[in-house]
Amino acid sequence: MAYNGEEVQSQDYLFKIVLIGDSAVGKSNLLARFARDEFYSNSKSTIGVEFQTQKMDIDGKEVKAQIWDTAGQERFRAVTSAYYRGAVGALVVYDISRRPTFDSIGRWLNELHTHSDMNVVTILVGNKKDLEDCREVSTAEGQALAEAQGLFFMETSALDSSNVAAAFETVVKEIYDILSRKVF
Ligand code: GDP
Ligand code: MG
Repeated sequence: MAYNGEEVQSQDYLFKIVLIGDSAVGKSNLLARFARDEFYSNSKSTIGVEFQTQKMDIDGKEVKAQIWDTAGQERFRAVTSAYYRGAVGALVVYDISRRPTFDSIGRWLNELHTHSDMNVVTILVGNKKDLEDCREVSTAEGQALAEAQGLFFMETSALDSSNVAAAFETVVKEIYDILSRKVF
């Protein structure tokens, strides 16, 4: 079978990325904004979606991210181990306007580490940054937690799109870089 540089370059990468975090922090809307440039003012976006495959361009190479949404399982504190299986990246999301969702982050990180590889590339995401007037968690607090846990960090808004693509791309690019170092 032919094997040359060109083939290596056009190799298909498919990375499983999971979205986790408390109910209503905006996980489904982050995915809807990123994958379809849509936003839902109700929770309709949660229903039925299992994962979306999104093509991304990383350093001129096509990479596919298979992004998993909980489909509301987190409401019952019942995200299954199957959800985490094989994940190489995670977005752990809280809502900057609701402190309890930030307080839950430790529990989500524990769950992530219980069910998946310790090396899963993780970004802490403070969503709803458009709700500045109702902010309950400062940017500095988010940053400090991320640093303490060795995570990437970004504040996003699925409503006004800010940093949404950047958050997903940060994770996928890091996974790609790690993999590239191993392969070449
Ligand atoms: P999930 O349960 O984590 O999937 O959260 P959803 O994506 O269903 O969002 C929960 C609610 O928050 C919905 O009413 C969304 O319209 C709203 N929402 C999601 N993201 C944002 C955001 O960035 N800004 C604002 N203001 N509302 C948001
Ligand atoms: Mg949802």
